[in-house]
Amino acid sequence: MTNLNISKSEALFERAKKVAPGGVHSPVRGFRGVGGTPRFIQEAKGAFLKDVDGNEYLDFCMSWGPLLFGHQDEEIADAVRSALGRGWSFGTAEPYSLDLAEFITKEIPWVEKIRFVNSGTEAVMAAIRVARGATGRNKILKFEGCYHGHVDSMLVKAGSGLAEMASPDSAGVSAQIAAETIVVPLDDLVALERALELHGKDIAAIIVEPVPANNGLLLQRENFLSELIRIAHKAGTLVIFDEVITGFRISFGGMAQYAGLKPDLVTYGKVIGGGFPVGAYGGRAELMNFVAPSGPVYQAGTLSANPVAMTAGLAMLKKLKRENPYERLATQARQVGIRIEAIAKDAGVPLRVQSFASLFWMILGDVKTTDGLVRSPEQTPAIQKEQYARIFHRLLSDGIYLAPSGYEVSFLSTAHTDILLDRLVDSVGRAIRQ
Ligand SMILES: *Cc1c(COP(=O)(O)O)cnc(C)c1O
Repeated sequence: MTNLNISKSEALFERAKKVAPGGVHSPVRGFRGVGGTPRFIQEAKGAFLKDVDGNEYLDFCMSWGPLLFGHQDEEIADAVRSALGRGWSFGTAEPYSLDLAEFITKEIPWVEKIRFVNSGTEAVMAAIRVARGATGRNKILKFEGCYHGHVDSMLVKAGSGLAEMASPDSAGVSAQIAAETIVVPLDDLVALERALELHGKDIAAIIVEPVPANNGLLLQRENFLSELIRIAHKAGTLVIFDEVITGFRISFGGMAQYAGLKPDLVTYGKVIGGGFPVGAYGGRAELMNFVAPSGPVYQAGTLSANPVAMTAGLAMLKKLKRENPYERLATQARQVGIRIEAIAKDAGVPLRVQSFASLFWMILGDVKTTDGLVRSPEQTPAIQKEQYARIFHRLLSDGIYLAPSGYEVSFLSTAHTDILLDRLVDSVGRAIRQ
């Protein structure tokens, strides 16, 4: 499938498959979505990955989002080095998480209190528990096509019949747990309203990716989020924005700030740790005060608020605040999309690029919706997986690393200069014409 020498990656993959499920520690890394051998990356700098065979790739996966300033950003590296010199885990109160918490709550005033955890999944799990603890209700409503980490109750899909009751979407998730979740389609306020009418008094929270970016980039209509909040609050239901991917990426305050909305609780991850394992959940003090030790909702973590990760996160967020790269990145992503679509049109190939802020997603095949946009998972053309795999491998042999799945988005960072983006457009152009 490739003209590059990848013999060392191949050998490592064979070894890895003997000691780890599928040879990897997170499924998408295993290349099942595109076929072929995953590249074992030895090191990375700026916008580039280098594999163990010495091949270089222009990276548009960027560790799935945290690296808004590219790999090995100097400022973050310096902060981490000085943090290491002070010790890397105390298991005590310390000033580093305080600095980060004060910085965030000052910049995003409706996040009055915040708790740091180690991943986005943990943040979601805890935010759901707070919503249940605060409302005394059990059910959570989520949208089909939104990903919220591997929390049991979120690994569900729309059930058949039984009024929106979900069924497990992973072995090992019990039907009872799945039944506590209600699944509603995206872009369907009527279905949402109906679900709230039926179950409203039992629903602790609606959780939503305010810009769904884990099943492709599913663009929502402008009033979807504001109506969602209105409908939820009418039923006494809380709203959790899962901004693990969008927080500090769409704008500093994520999609909430971008759209001028105030969810009750928010979850962060990815960018907030600058590439180190950090997640967080936060919101109004009145809700966060339910969390132990100030309240009855238990949540803890041996390595939570790790001082190295906190220092990396603060360096990241301070640089973001200072450099404010959001508009520039959004313009670049939009331009890449426009140029790729133009080439595809010339070649008579059905291809769309949906972008939002520094995220973009190539859709291969005919989109059958009236406005030509994909807003929910079933609108993605059926040939996406197969066609994307072909483009992915063409680009990979050209030294360009897209996310290894047609249902994942691509990420820009400030290390992606216009010249590097020209390289992407040219390479996609060649792949399309072939
Ligand atoms: C990545 C992601 C998660 C899960 O975060 P992990 O750190 O992988 O556990 C949850 N929600 C959203 C929206 C995400 O993008």
